[in-house]
This record gives sequence, C-alpha cells and structure tokens, in this order.
Amino acid sequence: MYDLHTIDEASPKPSMYAVRNELVANKADWQYMLSARTLQLAIADLGKAWQNFFDKAQPDWGRPAFKSKNAARQGFKTDRAKVVAGKLRLDKPRGVKDWYDIRVSRHADLSGTLKVVSIYRENGQYWASLPFEVELENKPQTGKNSAVDVNVGHLNYTAGVINTLPKRLGKLYQRVKYYQQQLAHKRVVNGNKATKSNNYAVMRAKLQRDYRKVANIQHDIMQKFTTELVNNYDKIIIEDLSVKDMQMSHVASKGLQRSMFGYFRQVLSYKCAWYGKKLLLADKTYPSTQRCSKCGYIKHGTDKITLQGNAQHQTKHNEYICYNCSAILDRDENAVANLLDLI
Ligand SMILES: [Zn+2]
Repeated sequence: MYDLHTIDEASPKPSMYAVRNELVANKADWQYMLSARTLQLAIADLGKAWQNFFDKAQPDWGRPAFKSKNAARQGFKTDRAKVVAGKLRLDKPRGVKDWYDIRVSRHADLSGTLKVVSIYRENGQYWASLPFEVELENKPQTGKNSAVDVNVGHLNYTAGVINTLPKRLGKLYQRVKYYQQQLAHKRVVNGNKATKSNNYAVMRAKLQRDYRKVANIQHDIMQKFTTELVNNYDKIIIEDLSVKDMQMSHVASKGLQRSMFGYFRQVLSYKCAWYGKKLLLADKTYPSTQRCSKCGYIKHGTDKITLQGNAQHQTKHNEYICYNCSAILDRDENAVANLLDLI
C-alpha cells in the first residue's frame, strides 16, 4: 500500500517522521472517525521500538512484540484526554456530533497532571487507565515501627490481624479451580479442537471474569493495608515471602494467594519509597516462628512447631510454648514480635 521508496529517498532509515507523514497522508476514511492521537501515538510507539531495536541498554530492546488483532486485550492511547468536573473527557474525533464525558468512580483521586491515557477492551469490558503525575511529600514520622507476619488467610502486624481470605474470595478461588479443571478436561478429551468451540470460549470468558474479580478484591485489601502501614509507621519489617510458599499446601488456589503476597511486597515497597518510610526484609534463615520473643530461645529438631502445632508436646496450631522460660504466646503474635526485634 505504501511506497517504500519514498521513505528510502527521504531518509536512509525509516524514521518515525517519514512513517508518520506517509500514514497521515494516506489515512482511510474510517480513520477520521478516530482521535487523531490514536495514530500519532501508535507511530510514536513504533518509532521508540525501532530506536530500541539494537540498543541492548534498553529493557525492551530487540524485535517489538507483534500485537495480534485477535489478542484478548485491544486498545489505543491518547494524550489529549482531560478530567473535567470529575469526568473523563476523551478528545472528540472530527465530524462526531454526540460526545459525552465518562463518569469515573467517586472514590478515585483525580488530582495531578494526567499523562497518556490508555483505553482498552478486555473480556468484553472497557477500561481506562489514567496515570497522573503527582508531587509526593514524605508522610510525617510517627516514631513507631511495625512488623508483618504473612500467613495463609491472614496477615499479623503490631496492631492486629488483616483477613486476606474473606469468604467471597474463597468462593472465587473454588470457582476458578472448577473452571480451570473443566477447561483442562475439554482439552484432554477433544484436543486442540476444543479451544475453538463456543462452549470453551464462554467458559474461558467466565474464568477470566473471575480472575478479574479476584484481583480487584486482593488489590483492595492490600492497597488499604499498605496505606495504613505507611501512615502509621516509620520502619516496617516483613519476611522474605518465599519462606511461606511451602506452607500453603491446603489452600484451594495457591497461585492466586501467592500472587497476593507478591503484590503486597511490591506495593509496600513503592509506597515506602514514595512517602519516606523504610521497608526492611528479614533474612530467609531468620527463625521468626521458632524463636521465643521473650527470651530468645530457638526451638530445634522435634521441638519445632509446624502449622499443626507440635504433636509430641501436644501444642495447638496457634500456640507457642517456650521450653526455656515457659512463656505461652500466640504463635503469630510471637512471630511479629520476633521480626520487630530485628529493627
Ligand atoms: Zn522463652
């Protein structure tokens, strides 16, 4: 469609500008029904990809990823979007008469400078991603520290317990597991053909919808908790979370619960950096479960407590009984106190 020779003569390399001029000059009628920025930003992305092609210093160097029109996620970007009276206003394409602002959740914080907005469709729903550039100020120092002990279903910290497995999340985990099994079964029975069927597509869409719900609930819990932590404490210590992986054998959807821990650490570390707070990681080998926070005694061998407690000593799963100083402690509170001792 495009004459590559004109590009060649204009410039020895297909520069972003040469490509842009060609594509803009050859716009089809339907393209005028879109925001002009859609094409411009797509070309800018292509230009960046070309520049990074051979530059190994760039994280995304090498061949650009091909985006199929059959991919689950389809979208475009615009840098002309605005927030007007709490609503999102996209740039109006030429010739369009009726144009409406889009309502945004009342709870969304729309302060700051709006950067390039991505609009995309995924699993039959439309999403807008609105990045804001904001000035961050350190949160006031409180003189208090906290430790977080990660467990299956709950997080313990110095001010109490956060439930990370509310009932509706547990139900979603069960349903995700069910859909995964059904889809796998269809693939085993019908082979590659199965993935082309209508029933398969419908079930996969349901699975993806549930994944989305799971992520929303998890992110909500973690965003609130990490905000509380950076508001109230100066230093926060957490365990190296790989330690906990082994102990999750009885959770319905291990992968999903584990990704929540990864998310927790990721969010906490950027919020600490944003607000001038300090995140500390306990060493993998630190015996936060086996140590007595009162006297420092560490359980070894058959004395060790497991998720089920200790059969030999008849201790319950939520108990820590010290054989040195006879302290009787809550297992998870003891772990929090041990982590706090490291600060
Ligand atoms: Zn003790």
